[in-house]
Amino acid sequence: MPSPIAHSATAYCLYKLTPLSQRSTLLGRHRCLDLAYIIFIGNVADIDFIPQLFLDGKFHRGPSHSLSLALLVSLGFAIIGYFFNKPKVRQLFLITLCIYTSHLFLDYWTAGGVGMQLFWPFTDSYFMSSVSFFPSVKHSKGLFYTGHIIFILFEAAYSFLLMTMLNIFCNPKKNKTT
Ligand SMILES: [Zn+2]
Repeated sequence: MPSPIAHSATAYCLYKLTPLSQRSTLLGRHRCLDLAYIIFIGNVADIDFIPQLFLDGKFHRGPSHSLSLALLVSLGFAIIGYFFNKPKVRQLFLITLCIYTSHLFLDYWTAGGVGMQLFWPFTDSYFMSSVSFFPSVKHSKGLFYTGHIIFILFEAAYSFLLMTMLNIFCNPKKNKTT
């Protein structure tokens, strides 16, 4: 799986690419809340990692990495948003779904592992791309394994490239004059 670095950078880019009129948050257009929300949604699928630390069995990349749960979570936040920000519920649903799905998209292109239960509950099969873009993470080696530097550097480069492209795309006039 990509780490929170790549998931957060991708979520941020999707949010920035959404036209201002189409952006919606739970409580309005507050930058810090927006950022906290999109980073949370971009990474929330990996919460399934926690039970695996304490319990036997395979939880990671299970149902939380399915399109069904992406839909359910987006609907849930849209319903919560309805009570706070009624006119923007549809936008909140769409941006949440888009960011949650981006998590699944990145994980799909990651090396290693057995894939994810993308179409749960319709099938328990695991899906992953036969071609990988992101390097694998060796969870069994622990947190301080030096081999992790490779994927951290890769994801930092990916995020930097994404932000640079976003800056060029979102500020074409500013970039022309400088
Ligand atoms: Zn994941």
